Amino acid sequence: MSSTDTSNHYDIVIIGAGFSGVYQLYRLRDLGFRVHLVEAGAGLGGIWHWNCYPGARVDTHCDIYQFSHEDLWRDWTWSERFPGWAEMRRYFDYVDEKLGLSRDVSFNTRVEHAEFDEANQRWQLSTNQGTALSANFVVVCTGFGSKPYIPELKGMENFAGEAHHTALWPQTGVNLAGRRVGIIGTGASGIQVAQEACKVSSHVTVFQRTPNMFLPMGQQQLTAEDNASKKATWPANFQRRGETFGGFDFDFIMKSALEYSPEERDAIYERLWTAGGFNFWLGTFFDIFTNEEANRTAYDFWRNKVRARIKDPKLADMLAPMEPPHPYAVKRPSLEQWYFDLFNRDNTTLVSLKETPIEEVLPTGLRTSAGVHEFDLLVFATGFDAVTGGLTSMDILSADRSTTIKDKWRKGVRTQLGVATSGFPNLLFSYGPQSPSGFCNGPSSAEYQGECIVELLVHLRAQGHRRIEAEPVAEQHWRDHIMELAQHTLFPLADSWYMGANIPGKQREMLMYPGGLPQYLKEFKASKDQGYAGFRLS
Ligand code: FAD
Repeated sequence: MSSTDTSNHYDIVIIGAGFSGVYQLYRLRDLGFRVHLVEAGAGLGGIWHWNCYPGARVDTHCDIYQFSHEDLWRDWTWSERFPGWAEMRRYFDYVDEKLGLSRDVSFNTRVEHAEFDEANQRWQLSTNQGTALSANFVVVCTGFGSKPYIPELKGMENFAGEAHHTALWPQTGVNLAGRRVGIIGTGASGIQVAQEACKVSSHVTVFQRTPNMFLPMGQQQLTAEDNASKKATWPANFQRRGETFGGFDFDFIMKSALEYSPEERDAIYERLWTAGGFNFWLGTFFDIFTNEEANRTAYDFWRNKVRARIKDPKLADMLAPMEPPHPYAVKRPSLEQWYFDLFNRDNTTLVSLKETPIEEVLPTGLRTSAGVHEFDLLVFATGFDAVTGGLTSMDILSADRSTTIKDKWRKGVRTQLGVATSGFPNLLFSYGPQSPSGFCNGPSSAEYQGECIVELLVHLRAQGHRRIEAEPVAEQHWRDHIMELAQHTLFPLADSWYMGANIPGKQREMLMYPGGLPQYLKEFKASKDQGYAGFRLS
């Protein structure tokens, strides 16, 4: 497209139609910007479009895993406290119906390349559909899980069965009934598939690298009356999200776990455990995340709860070892419903990949150092090139064309306030690296951080600025600040996606802002109050 052609030119192009992109679209459009959204998937919903594997389910309770705009919840009814993917999709369809979003979205269209046109101060984007768009500003909302990770396994090409990554699950579904299923990975997706597969498959083999510290979901079916009484609490709960570390409607206990006697502490742990959801994670003593002794009290409580459910002591040692493999809660502790009970059944096998690593994929299964495991369906529940993968998998050229975001971040992410990176003017990101993102409830981040971006774009328009760029000094500062905060926590002690440690060759670093949502919002406001300090506006 030539720079004089205006048919595909927008004030703002948004990339990605999950919570973050949808929020940007309806807010910016309401504010009179000419906006267009480009989405690789066939529908709205972001990860809920792609993750349609059996058992895919939200692990934030529905009360706050939704938009806070009253028009979008007044007449909506949730059927479960922790909704499944199909309900999330219906929810996004409902949001679309209410807000008329789809008319401004190009679906099935992936942005592949972006370059900045200095003369006209605008981005030129090209897509896998051969289309071109240009925009004064681009807001990237590609989320934390847009780039599925599949490990390289020797002999994979020989596998004669079916193989799927959970986030690339066929939209038409996969039949698990009567089949032998192998699942690699025991993060949220792996155990969600295992829980469903065990109901219908002839055999399930779970390949585990590290035991995952799952918490009890506390699922509930919700009636219309339940919804009505919940709705009475939502306005206050939505407000509270901006005041809590994780954008939840509850927060840490701001006392040390060690201030209590073991009996008092266990009584508190028991209450949090029974409440279900993330209460035992984001509602517990704050020093679980900073003090190994305090952390150990939570681990021991968790371990004892889990071990009590597993009959075979050897399996108990594999699933909930006496000594923690890493501190509790510094990897994302997803929620389970009946996962630990699966291992009391005859049709489930647990394989430790630490003790017996995979040697080779065979036509009928795979061989570990201890022997052969056969299956017809192989599920890669192996996660994502998380947080940065969405941005780095696009070929985004710096304004001077000397580098790409991918290359710039090879030795570490650099951003100002987690929304922009120097050398790439007019490119902003929501729920991206070095923002609260992975530590924050998704919709809370989409709205709270999203609103910071909206205000910034409104400010630029009001002041007649055509260009904004992060300052290198400011982003070094932000990076140093994040690394300093992380050093005071136990997060660096685990090889997690929070630390970029799940992908071979990826820089090991804290990828999110670990200071909590309220502090992040304060930092953003401080910059805003000084005319967006740390950004160059012109
Ligand atoms: P996403 O929902 O990831 O949307 C990003 C979109 O960008 C995708 O639709 C993708 O197709 C699109 N995209 C990517 N690259 C391109 C491109 N180049 N061109 C065009 N489009 C592109 N968080 C919670 O807080 N609570 C939960 O319970 C929870 N459960 C989760 C369960 C699963 C299975 C997964 C994977 C994540 C979960 N998360 C959860 C995290 C989740 O990412 C956030 O809750 C939220 O979805 C983030 O929304 P988003 O809009 O920022 O990104």
